[in-house]
Amino acid sequence: MHRRPTHTPRPSHLNAAELASLQRLEPLLWLNPGLASSFVAPDQALDPEVAIARFDRCAALMSKVFPQLRGSQGKLQSPLLPVPALQEQLGSMQSGTWLIKRDDALPVAGSVKARGGFHEILTLAERLALDAGLLKESSDRLDLSSAAAHRLFQKYRIAVGSTGNLGLSIGLIAKALGFEATVHMSEDAKDWKKDRLRAAGVKVIEHVGDYASAVQAGRVAAEQDPYGYFVDDEASPHLFLGYAAAASEAQAQLAAQGRKVDATHPLFVYLPCGVGGAPGGVAYGLKLLFGEHVHCFFAEPAASPCMLVQLAARDGAPTSVYDFGLDNRTEADGLAVAQASPLVAPLMRQLLSGVFTVADDTLFRDIHALMQTEGMLIEPSAAAGMRGPLWLTGSEPGQRYLAARNLQANMPQATHVIWSTGGSLVPSLEHETFQKRGRQR
Ligand SMILES: *Cc1c(COP(=O)(O)O)cnc(C)c1O
Repeated sequence: MHRRPTHTPRPSHLNAAELASLQRLEPLLWLNPGLASSFVAPDQALDPEVAIARFDRCAALMSKVFPQLRGSQGKLQSPLLPVPALQEQLGSMQSGTWLIKRDDALPVAGSVKARGGFHEILTLAERLALDAGLLKESSDRLDLSSAAAHRLFQKYRIAVGSTGNLGLSIGLIAKALGFEATVHMSEDAKDWKKDRLRAAGVKVIEHVGDYASAVQAGRVAAEQDPYGYFVDDEASPHLFLGYAAAASEAQAQLAAQGRKVDATHPLFVYLPCGVGGAPGGVAYGLKLLFGEHVHCFFAEPAASPCMLVQLAARDGAPTSVYDFGLDNRTEADGLAVAQASPLVAPLMRQLLSGVFTVADDTLFRDIHALMQTEGMLIEPSAAAGMRGPLWLTGSEPGQRYLAARNLQANMPQATHVIWSTGGSLVPSLEHETFQKRGRQR
């Protein structure tokens, strides 16, 4: 069912050695030949300021419906922390400073999906309330938690397809505002995520099939429902902008920590990639702020490198990991996606520096190392970016990337941000299983 017969892949920007590694599930760093030397925003319609402003005006509402957000006055934020002990154990102290962006600790939803998912549902709630005359453009968004708004939202059924975390994010905010919500889950989805959603009053429908079939099931269900609203993880600009808003938060945190970003202080960011929305949005936002001084790399499971194969396709036609004989089976459930987002992939063509792949065993080893050195507990998907700095400084393609940009001499002043994307809602029993697997490796 999952593995289609391998045909000869179409012409791609993969050389013979890269193709062999990809098909043998050997980790590799692939450099994107489409990366432009200067960044020009490709689409004026995608402006992260829209999401930043929405999160701002909805902050009081958020802190009302989610008590967990009171401490941050309704803002959805995560820490950016130095990880010297991890850096010393895994890497080198000479190649710059490693930081971890802790979206695994984002309140309420416990993953990067909180950013995109909350933004999309807030967008919908504002639009419905404006259309119904319950809200004026200038009104306080606290009005979205009124009894009248609640009654309005109750009529609508939100559907989403997910391997787990997007379902959690959408389901939790939808219910908090009064919407009905149905999450279509792929077979990779973990039982505890389904249990948690059901406990919050969200309907969970399980599908035999991968992420794309769960998304398709959600799309079909919503289309047949006059009050249905489909959150399209494969093509939603609202999700994308919610993720992109993270960039200005990171910019302020870097500045507060005295970390410069300029020609002699390069910034490298390593982002776990599933369908591409979350890492794509963050990378897009960072490029708008830092231009050629930020270098964004995606990290994908060796069995699911969907963005890599999509960006490597010379003709840009839809390309799936199944076309390469890969099976899309990985313990990194948040990243088990066979085909990249057709909205995001074209946007990444000119701004992404490259993609590296990770074996599942390495993910478990690295979450164990992170626990031992820094006391952080994250989920396997969230660890995909951890080897980024090592790929850059310790591999032939990484060295080639730095040399081509004359960056080697600046590496001691470099900042490496490893984007950690999920984990704080994971039950402790699951964490114990992860840690045990990591210890055995
Ligand atoms: C969804 C997810 C990602 C990747 O986001 P995409 O938008 O699917 O690329 C990364 N890490 C975790 C933990 C996720 O749940």
